[in-house]
Amino acid sequence: MKVGLEVHQQLATGKLFCGCPSELAESASTSFARRLRPASGEERRVDAATAFQASRGLLYRYESGPSNCLVECDEEPPRPLNETALDVALTVALLLGSRPVDEVEVMRKIVVDGSNTTGFQRTALVAVGGSLEVGGVRHEILSVCLEEDAARKIGAAGGEVAYRLDRLGIPLVEIATGPSITSGAQAREVAQEIGALLRATRRVRRGIGTVREDLNVSAEGGRRVEIKGVQELRLLGEYVAREEGRQRLLLELRDELVRREARVDPEPTDVAAVLADVREGPVGSALRAGGSVLALRLLGFAGLLGPRAGTDERLGRELADQAKALGLGGVIHSDEGAAHGLTAEQVRGLRSSLSLGEADAYVLIADRSAERAGRAARQVLGRAVAALEGVPGETRDPLPDGRTRYSRPLPGRDRMYPETDVPPVLLDAARLDRLRAALPERPTATVLRLERERGLSSELAGQLVYGTELDRFEELVGRGHAAPAVARLLTQELPGVAVADGAPAFDPPTTVLDDLLRAVASGAVAKEGTSRLLDELARGAPSVADALRRSGLTTLSAAELAATVDRIVTAQLPLVRARGQAAFSPLMGDVMRELRGRADGQAIAAELRRAIARHAGTATS
Ligand SMILES: [Zn+2]
Repeated sequence: MKVGLEVHQQLATGKLFCGCPSELAESASTSFARRLRPASGEERRVDAATAFQASRGLLYRYESGPSNCLVECDEEPPRPLNETALDVALTVALLLGSRPVDEVEVMRKIVVDGSNTTGFQRTALVAVGGSLEVGGVRHEILSVCLEEDAARKIGAAGGEVAYRLDRLGIPLVEIATGPSITSGAQAREVAQEIGALLRATRRVRRGIGTVREDLNVSAEGGRRVEIKGVQELRLLGEYVAREEGRQRLLLELRDELVRREARVDPEPTDVAAVLADVREGPVGSALRAGGSVLALRLLGFAGLLGPRAGTDERLGRELADQAKALGLGGVIHSDEGAAHGLTAEQVRGLRSSLSLGEADAYVLIADRSAERAGRAARQVLGRAVAALEGVPGETRDPLPDGRTRYSRPLPGRDRMYPETDVPPVLLDAARLDRLRAALPERPTATVLRLERERGLSSELAGQLVYGTELDRFEELVGRGHAAPAVARLLTQELPGVAVADGAPAFDPPTTVLDDLLRAVASGAVAKEGTSRLLDELARGAPSVADALRRSGLTTLSAAELAATVDRIVTAQLPLVRARGQAAFSPLMGDVMRELRGRADGQAIAAELRRAIARHAGTATS
């Protein structure tokens, strides 16, 4: 198996072609609607992915934030390329040993899914080549690019898709590796290393959605499939493994179809008359609305469309996804038998009208729009023909459960042409020298420095550097907090806070964490109580002081501690007298149940030993 990775990281440098900040907006003040049409690329051909997207015929609505930026609306030409963002991209390129280009040329990449107002995404090649060693394996770097992020999709209904312009134009550094990755676990390690390298520049945005990965996966004998826009690093391995399984299944099915000499009838058949008495399901509703029901004849496909042992992928879903991409609910196929409102008798009538034998299958496409049904039938036909070849190269969307879904054909070179509104930027030696002299520390060096200077274990240091909390760690340590306590808080206690299923991780402002560390350091709460306080904050306590009150966690005075321990020891006098200090372990359990988080563990233990000595002593005197 071969896997290549593309990492896209948003930069906190302001937008790429206007002066707006790289920030998302809570609200929108105006909106406008556009349709986007396909244009041909530099070589005068229309790209396949572009044509497919335009064929959906959608209307796009754009919500614009308080800035009402005319560059974002495409009512004003772009400004020159953001030089700070370019410096960050060049810095990353130098860290990877990539060779910067002589002149940065901004290109237009045609994208008409509505995710931009112009009908293209601006992108610029910054450097080529280079390599990155991860876990003893050297991975080739193909390119480092600087591009503008797309608008943020916020909804879709009834042929209209809504986007917000706040994300449009935020700079993205894109790093593409060669196909040297051989497993999902390795993909994740490489992504982590590249992520740490990007964050080392200290100019990246943080939080969910600020870094996105594209995966290029091809199993042996399969073809390149691009899984686009993975936001959850922890699912990278899952996507790779499932895609490998999907391609293996498609290759198995191909072999079986070839063995059976299967073929696909290139003409859909109108079966509205044959199924005229169907009242239920998609066929019934299409017919009632005066739409169309088309049947495809898949000769030799019987039994290969439905579920297969050992996988939850199936060919029927591959076909249905094509129809879904055009807005249909799916397809009906013969391996499902009498379902979706068709009776066994209607299925028999349909099969006979299509002259299907035992080994043959059919697929039904029903829609209230005859035109859309026709387009969907052609798409599904194309996919059925591709099954005879094995794995079609395509772009797929990642789903939250680790599966993926067909989204569109793979784009090709026909979608690129030069952006004539943005002047090219010459990269002179002085600029590269300046950046080389100020290269940030590499992640591996940072881990060693944190161990040496901050007294952290290599595990904690690694979690900070390869996680996303290193900046906050430095900030909180800079405010005078003990490094190990800050590291534990950020890498263990904070991620450990339970949140509702599907809710984002609890992420309080740095000032709140500052208060929390201060409360622990001052002795107002024992360090074991940190997690309880975080839970209260996650449940809505407005401040640390309030969380302290709500949780009842306040440190005991020495007198209160002594009194509580004495009460517990007195209740167990026979045990204490019989076993002396050997009673420590069982009693410590009782004491901790009552006092955990309210006093320091070592102080409790010392008090308990004193109390045992006292009471065991009274027995002998
Ligand atoms: Zn702007």
